[in-house]
Amino acid sequence: MRRRFKADPKWITVRHPTRCAEPNCQTHINPGERGFYYPGDKSLYGSRCGHGEKAERDFAAHRIDEDTY
Ligand SMILES: [Zn+2]
Repeated sequence: MRRRFKADPKWITVRHPTRCAEPNCQTHINPGERGFYYPGDKSLYGSRCGHGEKAERDFAAHRIDEDTY
């Protein structure tokens, strides 16, 4: 099976306070909260603001596109 992504993004429990990686999103992500994390570019998207779910959907959509080729 061909794999394009070296490090698939995944849901993690945040250990350090950080901010959502979505541009213009000011949401702080606190330790213990869930975030959708891209290891490749170290981006973390918050769940509370909905960007984690959005990033997950975007990633799944891209992967479906990949499989079509
Ligand atoms: Zn956000």
